[in-house]
Amino acid sequence: MQTFLERYWFAVALSIGAVIWAWRTRRRVRAAAHAPPRPRPPSGSVGPVPFRGADFAAKVAIVQRFHSKAIGAMIAFSFVSLGLLAVPGLSHATRAATVLAAAVGAFGSFLALAIGEGPLLRRLGLYCPQCGTPLVGGSDDRVPTEVVVCETGQCRCSAWLLDPADLPSGQGPDERYLPLS
Ligand SMILES: [Zn+2]
Repeated sequence: MQTFLERYWFAVALSIGAVIWAWRTRRRVRAAAHAPPRPRPPSGSVGPVPFRGADFAAKVAIVQRFHSKAIGAMIAFSFVSLGLLAVPGLSHATRAATVLAAAVGAFGSFLALAIGEGPLLRRLGLYCPQCGTPLVGGSDDRVPTEVVVCETGQCRCSAWLLDPADLPSGQGPDERYLPLS
């Protein structure tokens, strides 16, 4: 067991990280899924809004595809390295090179994610015009901002981003997400 961990610690750590990430994301999305219907103001009554509902959803989907590609690449690198390390008869040098290549690949994917996200969000205009918060993602223990916007039409700062008419049925402003006033 000890030698296994010594040899495969990198792949093991990456796999554990991937599983925890997937579980937390699922939990956040689940937490957002159960809510009673909320009344909403009539269409056009909230002033000009930067997005139409479908337009916003399409832009969010582009960012999510970018996220899943980068995270998928990180997971793929860890599994490829695990697979190669499991092949018997490889020399120590080959194993070391495999782990190094996987580490570089995974780190490269992480960098692409960290560096590429800001420009992509700017290109798509996915920032709140009032408070400047990115409209996709958010800290780990909160409902993702794109879910808040899609379901309430508002940013957490209370700025309207979607016309109320574009909200799914039963959805509307939700004071749980708004600043206390
Ligand atoms: Zn805002």
